[in-house]
Amino acid sequence: MERIVEIGRTDNRTMEHLDVLCNRIGGRLIGSDAYENASIWAASKFRQWGMEVVMDEVGEIPVGFNRGPWFGRLLGENGMTLHFATPSYTSGTRGVQRGHVLIEPKTQAEFDRMKGKLNGAWVLVAGENDGFPIDISAEADSLRDSIKLANAETEKINNQIRRENRENRGSGKPQKELLPLHEQPALFYKEMVDAGILGIIQSAPVPIRVLADRKNVWNWTFETLPTVPDIKLDEHQYKQIYQMAEERRYFQLEFDIRNHFKMGPVKYHNVIGIIPGTEFPDEYVIVGGHLDAYDVATGGVDDGSGATPSMEAARLIMEAGGKPKRTILVILWAGEEFGLLGSQSWVERYEADLDKISNMVNRDGGPTVPVSLTVSAAQMDDFKEIVEVINSINPEFPLELKERTPRTRPERPWGTDSGPFAVKGVPTITFDCADPKGYNFSYGEIWHTERDLYNKSIPEYQEQTATATAVLVYGLASLDHMLSREDYYLEKEPEADQKERKRKRQDN
Ligand SMILES: [Zn+2]
Repeated sequence: MERIVEIGRTDNRTMEHLDVLCNRIGGRLIGSDAYENASIWAASKFRQWGMEVVMDEVGEIPVGFNRGPWFGRLLGENGMTLHFATPSYTSGTRGVQRGHVLIEPKTQAEFDRMKGKLNGAWVLVAGENDGFPIDISAEADSLRDSIKLANAETEKINNQIRRENRENRGSGKPQKELLPLHEQPALFYKEMVDAGILGIIQSAPVPIRVLADRKNVWNWTFETLPTVPDIKLDEHQYKQIYQMAEERRYFQLEFDIRNHFKMGPVKYHNVIGIIPGTEFPDEYVIVGGHLDAYDVATGGVDDGSGATPSMEAARLIMEAGGKPKRTILVILWAGEEFGLLGSQSWVERYEADLDKISNMVNRDGGPTVPVSLTVSAAQMDDFKEIVEVINSINPEFPLELKERTPRTRPERPWGTDSGPFAVKGVPTITFDCADPKGYNFSYGEIWHTERDLYNKSIPEYQEQTATATAVLVYGLASLDHMLSREDYYLEKEPEADQKERKRKRQDN
């Protein structure tokens, strides 16, 4: 372990891996060429370091997606460059497309009034971007149809109110308020697309976050893909443009969006690097982060900050000539962003081996630095030496060993790849991390946004993490026994918690 620390201190390559992953390969959702490139690259590094590699097939996505660059401008007296993004697995433009701007219709009457102008228009739709594209499925169309019917009924009443208000004007009787219509973004989506709109535009808080239609991508074929762009525009620009459209001023918007689909099915794999155990080869310590990342940025943090220290930990162990007693599996998970696909699938396929996993280390929470490890009373002694060695890496980053209060085993996985393991009772002890030097890091800023870039990472934290992870994993794999699971998870909820939960339920 001293050798690992030495190399980790003098020749740490975590940021080199991150540079390649973000800046040569780029954003990498499953189904993209970039994801495949990242898998091949990671596998080649593992092999180069002397590890065995398994390309662990998880599944296939019916259609793939590759994102190119995107540009937009407002053309008019107050011309400007537009700041926007489009969700993954949505349509690009047909080259550079220019058009006038309309505010979307909310009722059939409004639709009829503007239907002749929809051809070649960009349409401002209601609501605020939450990252998801407008749902183009038949199911969503039928939901929109039922809202249209309800709105049509409301409009009948409103027309009555309007009539009464007109009659009562000047009579001293109070004017009645109109009933509100149900606001559904892109309510006339299908009709507008059929009428020839260029695309829809929604207001987006900054930094702009975009996701993908994680539900419908599994049902698409190359023939049933979205055909018009779904633009999420900087809310400040949206507001300005909305006002200009409302004032019926003349201006145009121009977009060039290079979103490309890829004929599927496209397989996706967990990349597993193996350091075989010398004494207990069929017992395991797992370490990793997810390899996939949203492609509006480059996954510099989510989850470059987890995948690359895991890779570097593997390299440090190999470079130091480490020979662990039990097998270390370095797993770069596939499809975390589409619902923990890689880890969930692995846990299901290797259910019989889960008892043989001493610990599963996952990192997916930002480029912060380890400050403590929280372990059960029964595991305390096994961590003492590990923590001592980690504390020899860099005095600026002391690590504290804390005792864990037993908790109930979760029934459903939490939102990252250790979740499916925890559900099965596998210990998922990992570092508690913090930002002791005050780099002002904000996870909300990068989470699936355009800012999740290489330079949001924090090199000294990332390097410390890689070395500490190597020591942790190697230390656990070299114990002469597996970590105890005694009182790690309580099989039964403590009575006090049960009472508390019941009380809360009654309160609601
Ligand atoms: Zn993540």
